[in-house]
Amino acid sequence: MDTALVWFRNNLRVQDNSSLSNAIASGKRVIGLYSFDPRQFQIGDFGFKKTEKYRAQFLIETVQNLKKNLNNLNITLIVTHEHPEITIPELIDQHNISEIYSQKEWASEENEVTLAVEKKLSNVKHHTYYDQFLFHPEDIPFDTFGDIPQVFTQFRKKCEKEGSVQPLQEKIEALPSKNLLDEESDMPNLQELGLDTFIKDQRSAFPWKGGEDEAWNRLNDYFWNTKKLQYYKKTRNGLVGEDYSSKLSAWLANGSISARQIYWEVKKFENEIISNQDTYWLIFELIWRDYFKYVSLKHGNDLFKIGGILNKEYDWKRNDKAEREWINGNTTYDFVNANMIELKETGWMSNRGRQNVASFWAKEQQQDWRVGAAYFESMLIDYDVHSNWANWMYNAGVGNDPRDRKFNIKRQQEMYDGNGKFVRLWTQNELF
Ligand code: FAD
Repeated sequence: MDTALVWFRNNLRVQDNSSLSNAIASGKRVIGLYSFDPRQFQIGDFGFKKTEKYRAQFLIETVQNLKKNLNNLNITLIVTHEHPEITIPELIDQHNISEIYSQKEWASEENEVTLAVEKKLSNVKHHTYYDQFLFHPEDIPFDTFGDIPQVFTQFRKKCEKEGSVQPLQEKIEALPSKNLLDEESDMPNLQELGLDTFIKDQRSAFPWKGGEDEAWNRLNDYFWNTKKLQYYKKTRNGLVGEDYSSKLSAWLANGSISARQIYWEVKKFENEIISNQDTYWLIFELIWRDYFKYVSLKHGNDLFKIGGILNKEYDWKRNDKAEREWINGNTTYDFVNANMIELKETGWMSNRGRQNVASFWAKEQQQDWRVGAAYFESMLIDYDVHSNWANWMYNAGVGNDPRDRKFNIKRQQEMYDGNGKFVRLWTQNELF
């Protein structure tokens, strides 16, 4: 049977997924593939595993949920622990695949995988979609990626005025059951990925599981059940607990939910409940997310270079002792320590925390900022290549912040943890 393959990458959802919708629209039998690419679990250039246990666990849960949801649509998801450029040609032969559908990924490592796969394709068409944006590249008021402004505010204002957010893809309905294949998947567990198992820390500000269903549970809780979205701007700099911010980043990063889906839910909330500065601010933050993706499209590999997109020279240091102290929360600042312990024990850190520990590492200690970015890449549940590396550049003074700021960490601690609750939680294990 003529077959279309949906190669799932960071678009791990069934609804509002252009690759899946287009594969179904082709009228062919549809099968899916997710590869746990061994390269994603190896040690990277700065000595950290590229994916540590927290995100790996979240990813396993995500793929399990994707498999279940696809199965409900009578679509088989094949899961392998193998390089896609090895698996895909085998599947093409076995299943008579004539078209492949995937999300367009452009960061260098992802692009190398795409090229390795495409090198093996003959007579198979590969369709790719920019599906990770709020404002699709066709709908932004800039002719080329080279025209993306160096300053966020200019980008945001122009997009808000002249850009548009696409409507959601039509809801996917189940295909005839003859689509299902009779096969066993090779879903790896943490040990098979070379990682330690762990028990969730009960202090975690991110207690959820991976997957499209869980993303919607969280959205429904934050928006509709508790209606906390209406206070978002006032609480978003918080440090303790589940609800100071939306916590949607991890599902967004691997595409369990799309930025468009969140946007249209905010609009619905604004129509049905309340429209205020707080509801707007969630969209404002989603535009930051888009902005860093466009910065990455504009500047390519400069994101990973020590001079960043500004090609700026500083006297960067590399000191193992400083690195250990920072990672283990043994610096002279309680506030940095509490945040770093939280990251080490849970894979999560608030936005306020991230800014402070990055500023401490890069601006106060003047340590090579890429070491910090690589450590975050390893540890964060919500790691996203563009958001992580561009935010690090920004905080290290080699990115899109013309002011080249350094945080006053004592002052930040007073402002955001005046009563010491956050520091005590992580440095003295004091539950509230
Ligand atoms: P909310 O405050 O609820 O915001 C809603 C959404 O807007 C977020 O889910 C996220 O998608 C987006 N967003 C918010 N702030 C930013 C921002 N500064 N940059 C880009 N998008 C933003 N975010 C990641 O998703 N992955 C990363 O790897 C990542 N690394 C970071 C590294 C550093 C050094 C810093 C300072 C920030 C980093 N961020 C990263 C951005 C931000 O800290 C997280 O997106 C945010 O803390 C996630 O929590 P939330 O979903 O509750 O955010």
